[in-house]
Amino acid sequence: MQIQSKLPNVGTTIFTVMSQLAMRQGAVNLGQGFPDFEGPRELFDALARHVREGRNQYAPMTGVPKLREQIALKTEKLYGRRIDADSDITVTSGATEALFAAFAAVVRSGDEVILLDPCYDSYAPAVELNGGLCVRIPLRLPDFSVDWQRVRDAVTPRTRIILINSPHNPSGAVLHRADMDALADIVRDTGILVISDEVYEHMVFDGVPHYSVLGHDELASRSFVISSFGKTYHCTGWKVGYCVAPPALSAEFRKVHQYLTFCTFNAAQCAIADVLESIPQHYLELPAFYQAKRDHFRSLLAGSRFQLLDVPGGYFQLVDYSAISELDDLAFCEWLVAEHKVAAIPLSPFYETAPDARLVRLCFAKNEATLADAAERLKAV
Ligand code: PMP
Ligand code: GLN
Repeated sequence: MQIQSKLPNVGTTIFTVMSQLAMRQGAVNLGQGFPDFEGPRELFDALARHVREGRNQYAPMTGVPKLREQIALKTEKLYGRRIDADSDITVTSGATEALFAAFAAVVRSGDEVILLDPCYDSYAPAVELNGGLCVRIPLRLPDFSVDWQRVRDAVTPRTRIILINSPHNPSGAVLHRADMDALADIVRDTGILVISDEVYEHMVFDGVPHYSVLGHDELASRSFVISSFGKTYHCTGWKVGYCVAPPALSAEFRKVHQYLTFCTFNAAQCAIADVLESIPQHYLELPAFYQAKRDHFRSLLAGSRFQLLDVPGGYFQLVDYSAISELDDLAFCEWLVAEHKVAAIPLSPFYETAPDARLVRLCFAKNEATLADAAERLKAV
């Protein structure tokens, strides 16, 4: 049977492609972003307890109340905004579901969504499946900063959403107060909404704080702010995320969420709520934890032929391989995994039109032995 694809230009995501190649080649996998160490013991104990105690049926559609209360407390503590746990917070099956639900809730056929390239690969298909058109603006190399004038010039009467992502995947760039003010200037007196993907909110380095849209009054009033406990508690496989948005936006968001997944893994929500309450220092210590990994990995790579770009946030190290090869980034990653047994992620799948750069992404959310093994192999390149 012939079927006309709704996503004719979409193949299998690069994360799956590279993880499969890594497995087949017996390579060290620094490609797909996930930790190879475990989350807090307390989290696992709490999950087991909640399963044993029978929290095995559907959770409330908007999320377990205690988890929403803990998210509200954390938001107030970190970003100074008091949000209503009942009307402003929805727990989702990962940030991926939250992103899809936010687009589906507000994008109408022909609406334009501004994405800043390179960007995470789920955004554009989610826009297009909902009838939207992506308008893709490149970030400036080499620091992946936003050219706000270009964003302003791209706005039309059809612009519905501007999406920002800080700390940024794949570059690690972070947005500052001045960026938020520039964005607020652009959207003021328009109907444009903001989606702020903040899944790496606790991975910011060198003493620079994460600047959340939730810390900006004007933007918070028109934004869906999305985060993920998969990142914060090293449990990407649990797929628990959430969306914070003002009541009117949350109401529309929930109309989609209730028919997309209805609810999220009940016992996991209960366990996460427990550790947010009992070990708040866990997420407060994440910047130092990941900064040490970043610095260690960078020092291991010193003397290699890769040039290391700055990493202000996130858990990825971008490296420039132009001293090594003329291959394009996908071909280079295929060669690297086959010849040197290290899986990386090329940047071109994050772009509509990739620049002429020789950059690949390495994930440093790995234990010491993995990083040492990978660095040894990379130094031999
Ligand atoms: N946004 C960004 C920028 C990501 O890197 C990821 C994936 N790790 C997600 C969203 C999706 O998060 P989740 O695994 O919670 O769906
Ligand atoms: N967010 C992870 C990354 O950027 C991967 C998520 C996925 O595999 N879909 O590597």
